[in-house]
Amino acid sequence: MTQVKHCQIAIIGAGVAGCIAALALSRHFQVLLIDKQAACPDKVGECLPPAAARILRSLDLLHAFEQRQDLHMPNYGIRSHWGSEHGLINDTLSNPDGTGWQLNRAGFENWLREQVTARGIETLWPAKLQDAQPGSDGWLLHLTTQTQVQARAQSIAVPCHFVIDATGRHSAFATKLGLKRKVLDKQIALWASLDCASENQLACINTSPQGWWYSAKLPAKRRVLALQTDSDLLEKGLQHDLSQFCHLARSQAGLKALLPKGIEQSGNMQLHGVVSANSTCLTQTAGHRWAALGDAACSFDPLSSQGMFNAMATAMQLTNSLTGHGLTDPSATIEIARLHQTQIGAIWQHYLSHRAHYYGQEQRWPDALYWQRRHTQKNAEFS
Ligand SMILES: Cc1cc2nc3c(=O)[nH]c(=O)nc-3n(C[C@H](O)[C@H](O)[C@H](O)COP(=O)(O)OP(=O)(O)OC[C@H]3O[C@@H](n4cnc5c(N)ncnc54)[C@H](O)[C@@H]3O)c2cc1C
Repeated sequence: MTQVKHCQIAIIGAGVAGCIAALALSRHFQVLLIDKQAACPDKVGECLPPAAARILRSLDLLHAFEQRQDLHMPNYGIRSHWGSEHGLINDTLSNPDGTGWQLNRAGFENWLREQVTARGIETLWPAKLQDAQPGSDGWLLHLTTQTQVQARAQSIAVPCHFVIDATGRHSAFATKLGLKRKVLDKQIALWASLDCASENQLACINTSPQGWWYSAKLPAKRRVLALQTDSDLLEKGLQHDLSQFCHLARSQAGLKALLPKGIEQSGNMQLHGVVSANSTCLTQTAGHRWAALGDAACSFDPLSSQGMFNAMATAMQLTNSLTGHGLTDPSATIEIARLHQTQIGAIWQHYLSHRAHYYGQEQRWPDALYWQRRHTQKNAEFS
């Protein structure tokens, strides 16, 4: 039997974008937050920029977040060997918003989910979007949910006035509408985490012919180490072979000291595998009574470290549009879509020029395909 759940705004995806949108919009509308996963699993991407403090403060979350010392540590900055063998330090010490944070990422997202439920916002997880049908005053979503105690999947119908696609790079709702993504590159990240006793709290970036490496300290004396390269350039079997991964990392200038001898056999280092890390953007980021947020709208290269902030900021922008225009007037819904597309379009253009500038600064590997691809690309094709 199909269960029915009514709401004004259905937000699909309870990552950073979806949770922030739910917390902001619930002050004005009846919201339902949906995710296909019961809880956020281990996730890479831990640097939360200082400006995020403004958004957390505006939602009355900053104080409670700062109290949770287990979820974060200060981010003092990064030493990058990008375009030169000499390290360049970019610190956060003089930033008026403070230092920013290195997060326990899954812990942070699960904490955001707790804030959502603590404020009485309705949630539905695990529940996966299966289908979406348009109606005259909104959408009818079809979801399936299955918990460990249920043998069979349950169907849930969600009638709503507005849908927010916050499903990350899958853009699951927009994809059901037949929309495609502009895809700039085939970049993936192969990432590992390990125990780390070092006191050095600076993150680091090092380039190599096949891409670039990144490492940063995490709370609870852990560290992340990731290789960014193109999917077709990744050495065969590397994503399943911790010893081979460590061997490659140790051959990079600056990374050897991060990997104590024998760590790969100690059980204190885990290779988590490959995730998408490419630059992509939906061809249409809003339409009749729907809008995409965060990575679902556009996903950035991890080099930018701006993905979570973009997810938060786009959620706040959309909240302003929806509260300013309301959900019922048909001409207002057209205006909301126009405004959202313009705002995301401007962010994307800005991002494209930054990305071209940064990759243009590394010219030490002229024969390497990874860098050639980034140096010959024309932004105009992806605008
Ligand atoms: C290697 C790497 C390093 C990064 N480093 C950083 C960093 O240091 N700092 C930073 O700010 N950003 C970083 N990022 C980017 C950052 O992780 C993303 O920008 C951010 O996760 C976007 O959040 P989101 O909520 O839009 O999407 P997501 O985090 O992808 O969340 C989407 C949610 O939607 C749910 N979902 C998906 N499909 C469905 C469906 N069909 N039905 C229901 N639910 C669904 C998922 O379960 C998930 O919970 C990094 C990314 C990568 C790949």
